[in-house]
Amino acid sequence: PQLGFRGRRALVTGAGKGIGRAVAAALSRAGARVTALSRTAADLESLAQECPGIEPLCLDLADWEATEAALRTAGPFELLVNNAAVALLQPFLEVTREALDRSLDVNLRSVLHVSQIVARQMIAQGVPGAIVNVSSQASQRALRDHAVYCSTKSALDMLSKVMAMELGPHKIRVNTVNPTVVMTDMGRINWSDPQKSAAMINRIPLGKFAEVDDVVNSILFLLSDKSAMTTGSSLMVDGGFLVS
Ligand code: NDP
Repeated sequence: PQLGFRGRRALVTGAGKGIGRAVAAALSRAGARVTALSRTAADLESLAQECPGIEPLCLDLADWEATEAALRTAGPFELLVNNAAVALLQPFLEVTREALDRSLDVNLRSVLHVSQIVARQMIAQGVPGAIVNVSSQASQRALRDHAVYCSTKSALDMLSKVMAMELGPHKIRVNTVNPTVVMTDMGRINWSDPQKSAAMINRIPLGKFAEVDDVVNSILFLLSDKSAMTTGSSLMVDGGFLVS
């Protein structure tokens, strides 16, 4: 209630696991009417059981037509969190076309498409809106084996700025959160090697990875009217990695 989410309609992508799941649950607890979009049906079923009232939407965001069809009838929303992404790490010289296509489709193309559909609905309804795109510290620093991931997140930061510019006159704010490593499934797959994770932690002034809740709190802030004058910005949740 404090953040003013009661009764507001929210769409969270990638809500089956990790950060997206926690955002959907937090918004639901705060009284928002949440649609949780993800790819694996079982994840959405267990989420709906944990948080009665959450509307599940099972969809592969890489499928442009299916996304369009599903979202045409799902809206309108006032709050949007573009959180779904894949991190397919490969050395630059071994990057495959498949990994590149999948990453661009999910991490960038679907964000543009979902935001377009949702923003058009916001404008048609004449309601103000807030969009948060989940980016990464990797948008602003080169990381080994992250050529494709870094590129999609960097593009996402810039997409968010142009969206902020064009949607501002419609009272729609667009911001990103940029976390450091979080030990979700994605984090565990890519950062479980103790040597690799120690080297990363050594570069983080606060000396630790982020918790899911650190990221959730920043997303909730940027969705809420507490950040009413903030748009086109990137909020680092990186323990200082980018200034180190
Ligand atoms: P997880 O892999 O733990 O969860 C991602 C969720 O997104 C899953 O529910 C997944 O569903 C869903 N998803 C992935 N692809 C699609 C798709 N094509 N269509 C629909 N849903 C999809 O990731 P995190 O929670 O760790 O990451 C969330 C966000 O945070 C991402 O944008 C990520 O890039 C970013 N981030 C993560 C960091 C980390 O270290 N974990 C660090 C910085 C940023 P399914 O499993 O069924 O495919």
